[in-house]
Amino acid sequence: MDDLFRTPESAISKICKKMRIVKPNGRGMDFNFEGMVLDRVAHDEALVDLARSRGADYLVGKRVKRVEGDTVALSNGETIRGRVIVGAGGHNDPIRKRHWDERSLNIPVKFSLKDGEHSDALELHFGSVAPGGYAWVFPKDSGSNIGLGIQRGMSKGRSLEEYANDFIERFEGEESFRGAGYLPMSGTIRTFVKGNYLLVGDSAGMVLPSNGAGITIAMIGGRIAGQVISEHINNGTDLKEYEKRWESQMGNVMRNSKRSFSIGSMMFRFPDWILNIAFNPLTKGIIWRAVTCRRLFWIF
Ligand SMILES: Cc1cc2nc3c(=O)[nH]c(=O)nc-3n(C[C@H](O)[C@H](O)[C@H](O)COP(=O)(O)OP(=O)(O)OC[C@H]3O[C@@H](n4cnc5c(N)ncnc54)[C@H](O)[C@@H]3O)c2cc1C
Repeated sequence: MDDLFRTPESAISKICKKMRIVKPNGRGMDFNFEGMVLDRVAHDEALVDLARSRGADYLVGKRVKRVEGDTVALSNGETIRGRVIVGAGGHNDPIRKRHWDERSLNIPVKFSLKDGEHSDALELHFGSVAPGGYAWVFPKDSGSNIGLGIQRGMSKGRSLEEYANDFIERFEGEESFRGAGYLPMSGTIRTFVKGNYLLVGDSAGMVLPSNGAGITIAMIGGRIAGQVISEHINNGTDLKEYEKRWESQMGNVMRNSKRSFSIGSMMFRFPDWILNIAFNPLTKGIIWRAVTCRRLFWIF
């Protein structure tokens, strides 16, 4: 992975050595962890610069309206043609929407950037604070990113806005930004390749459901897709090879993560007092294996 994750210093907001799982009663369980909190804008700009340095054209101020055959129609009326077309438009990608039937579970999330010091660890909060999802506090070089995601089916009629406000207001400090989005949390879809179309990143469901990580996963998928497309154009390699290589590099990790998410979604229907008991020193190792996408038990 080292040659893929060359995060420039300027894009690292903070290195955090601890992750804390916070139970509904507010008590935390700490885990040693090597966490990198990004300056996301600087990170994505560095990726754009890298792509441009290798010959990519980066268009701004235009959106993809439609993709048919080998033609991409843009919002300003221009068209672009391609032998292979990649859908990397996130959870609402136009190729995925038009050419794939499969649906993903998209979890709505809201977050706030707040000034002040709120935690010495990357915190994940579970329970009724964020039904079916989790809330987070990620300390940055100054201030924190504080937010949460919920499963609407478990939210008992309360809106995401209400849950987010309740959680974010627990933390003091001036708010400099509020944002929202969606996380596809049902894992990868069955196929990423149809004819000359490929999907990568969120558009293919490449987010690990047990921890919501999608940045590194999208980069892994993007690299495999790029390599296969290059081989396809130069030597006629079948584009389906992308799915095979994804399976061999990421298949087990994704399966473990999906399984942990399913078990978690069942558990998070329980009342907080049960979760307070369930998260204990005896289950600590299993919880960590779930968050880090490993098998929970040796047979399972
Ligand atoms: C609030 C929030 C917090 C998150 N926190 C984390 C985290 O801590 N760690 C982590 O690893 N992941 C996190 N994720 C997930 C991570 O951001 C995504 O998994 C990752 O960005 C996926 O990359 P992507 O390139 O597939 O999609 P995106 O980053 O969504 O990029 C898609 C791009 O396509 C563009 N686009 C969409 N439609 C069109 C169109 N029709 N025409 C032209 N352009 C279009 C969009 O504008 C966007 O720029 C978080 C997500 C959210 C919403």
